[in-house]
Amino acid sequence: MNRFISTSDAARLDAADSLASLRAEFHLPTLDGEEVIYLTGNSLGLQPRGVESALNTELESWRTYGVEAHFHGPNPWMPYHERLTDSLARLAGAKPSEVVAMGSLTGNLHTLLASFYRPTAERPLLMCEAKAFPSDQYALASQAQWHAHGELFEICGTDPEGAPTPDEVLKAIAEHGRRGATLLLGGVHYFTGRAYPIAEITAAAEAQGMLVGWDLAHAMGNIPLKLHDWGVDFAAWCSYKYLNSSPGGVAGLYVHERHHGPETFRLAGWWGHDKASRFKMPAEFVPERSAESWQWSNAPVLGMAAQRAALDVFDRADLDAYRAKSLAMTDVLLGLLDHVSAQTGQEIKVLTPREPQHRGSQVSVQFVGRDRRFFDYLV
Ligand SMILES: *Cc1c(COP(=O)(O)O)cnc(C)c1O
Repeated sequence: MNRFISTSDAARLDAADSLASLRAEFHLPTLDGEEVIYLTGNSLGLQPRGVESALNTELESWRTYGVEAHFHGPNPWMPYHERLTDSLARLAGAKPSEVVAMGSLTGNLHTLLASFYRPTAERPLLMCEAKAFPSDQYALASQAQWHAHGELFEICGTDPEGAPTPDEVLKAIAEHGRRGATLLLGGVHYFTGRAYPIAEITAAAEAQGMLVGWDLAHAMGNIPLKLHDWGVDFAAWCSYKYLNSSPGGVAGLYVHERHHGPETFRLAGWWGHDKASRFKMPAEFVPERSAESWQWSNAPVLGMAAQRAALDVFDRADLDAYRAKSLAMTDVLLGLLDHVSAQTGQEIKVLTPREPQHRGSQVSVQFVGRDRRFFDYLV
């Protein structure tokens, strides 16, 4: 049970909130002229107020300079993706050379697995959690199918609703890791909101000789991350959920610096080529020595402008305060749900672990005995 917090206690917490002013940086949807309480940032983050002018700036550069906007205007487009790097590195807990804003999440998973899932007869397994997000399930199954020795291994848990527990993951690694090529898990499970101990699981799988990647769709911009120090090999995220980048907005990826050398195989494109010689158009691909070398195409400037505006808000937030506030808010919500359940006799099953270290800012609940009409009513 979580503590029930009265309205006056909540008002006191709000008054002491060092991040309170940032709420005004976002447009909240309205219903009958009133701002709604928005609980769906895990699906589509709200629009930062700065996005409109950020887009207008690049539209103006396009109007004014045409293709020359790659080199002129307030933010020349050639290196535009570099403008996002430091902010993403801070959120990922990575070196700037280890992250890049690019592509889409599922596309980035495929391009990373092309480098980091190379199954052999001795190590055929691509290990992942059962009940992963459907796009991940399809992507991973097709990766396993693609390779001669490929074999998908889904780590099943005993909880019928949910993903495996960390202990169940660690047990599977201990039992099957010797046959594992690559482990790929969601950092925060999209359905239950369970946050995995990324450092511990990564270390256990690497000790078995596996490469380890994380899908951070629900983790970037949500929970504290230290990908570099944890030794994570690779990771990818979408940005339209917790990073407020706009629907289908530019995603991102991370690759540990130990893999940046030319000996790592990459599915190549011209934007990953060494910047110094890119426009000499040489016949042979020479990868840039950073995560940027996984880029394929010249980058979507309008999408990146929206993401840049959103990251401006994150840059202003102290990340410890951000995490503390997130946990305080879900504590309040859990306390309220327990209270409502006790008052009304309606059983409310909380699918998200209640321990703070095992959850992000998502609380998944099931109203036992209710159907779709109740869901629609709540929405
Ligand atoms: C949201 C989400 C996706 C969506 O993939 P896109 O390629 O961005 O459409 C994939 N995987 C997970 C775990 C997600 O939460």
